[in-house]
Amino acid sequence: MISYDVTEWGKPLQKAIRELPQPSGTEVLVQVKYCGVCHSDVHIRDGYYELGEGKRFQMEERGVSLPLVMGHEPLGTVVAAGPDAKDVPMGEDRLVYPWIGCGKCSRCLAGQDNWCPTPQFLGVLKPGGYAQYTMAAHPKYLVDVSGIDPSFAPVLACSGLTTYSAASKLMPCDPKDWIVIMGAGGLGLMAISVLRAMGHEHIAVCEIDESKWEAAMAMGAQVVVQPKADDALSTLQGLDGGVFGVLDFVGAAPTAELGIAALRKGGRYVIVGLFGGQIAMPLVPIAQRAITIQGSYVGNLAELQAVVALAKQGKLKPIPTRLCGLSDVSGVLDQLKEGTVLGRVVAKVDATEG
Ligand SMILES: [Zn+2]
Ligand SMILES: [Zn+2]
Repeated sequence: MISYDVTEWGKPLQKAIRELPQPSGTEVLVQVKYCGVCHSDVHIRDGYYELGEGKRFQMEERGVSLPLVMGHEPLGTVVAAGPDAKDVPMGEDRLVYPWIGCGKCSRCLAGQDNWCPTPQFLGVLKPGGYAQYTMAAHPKYLVDVSGIDPSFAPVLACSGLTTYSAASKLMPCDPKDWIVIMGAGGLGLMAISVLRAMGHEHIAVCEIDESKWEAAMAMGAQVVVQPKADDALSTLQGLDGGVFGVLDFVGAAPTAELGIAALRKGGRYVIVGLFGGQIAMPLVPIAQRAITIQGSYVGNLAELQAVVALAKQGKLKPIPTRLCGLSDVSGVLDQLKEGTVLGRVVAKVDATEG
């Protein structure tokens, strides 16, 4: 089979020919038809996340080894299964939940695979979907997305799930409470869609690139703010009733500082983006303002099923997506790094490429 691999950190993906993997135990082999191209693959390909003060989270130190097949949003046809796999939807198309853990620890047994201390994430620690085939560890990780546009369904596995899990951390909240979204990239636009599907009414977006404002409004935001403007903070603080929640899909020092400062008393700031850096802040006001600062990383299987259900009910407005080929993924990652992609790109995998 064909795959497109990271063979050297920070370098373009390389086409490779690999042995077709054989499923064992409970494993299920999936012939990939589509795989979403996620912004986090930019960091994974680079081999690190920025931690600030010159420090880096190095992939290699966290068990990621090369060559690596990235791609954590695979959708494809179930074609084979190991002898211990039960209730296998053979021949049917499924989205693969990628954020799997060891399957044995208390977190995994509680359905919180994404919090497993020894993750086995697809496309990060296990071969992912930038290939003609990928392996799911167990049939339970296969999610039925029938009825959802296959060029949109893949992005539910990461950006849909990530935004749903982050938005859930702000619930319950009054639908009229203001929620601010930092960044109108793929995740930010998806978050607007998810919040609207949850019945939320008041959404403000902070986005530097004004060419993305129209898309944010079209997805259902009511207010767009230029975060570099001198009056950005006062504009946010002036929203009627104050800002209850901030979902930060950038995760840089300026967005964190602005987002935390904008919160009303009792408000919640949820950081999702992995742009990186660090902030210093006085501790006393955290207590006095009774604010919550919380991290959110991808989501669990039940949350993926919940966001897929919203999409099946037609409540989730699809974000702009376009298709590319597997050989184009590396170039798309370059565009994501430059910030020039509107919405999301999904790779359509050619089964005949050899
Ligand atoms: Zn992702
Ligand atoms: Zn585990």
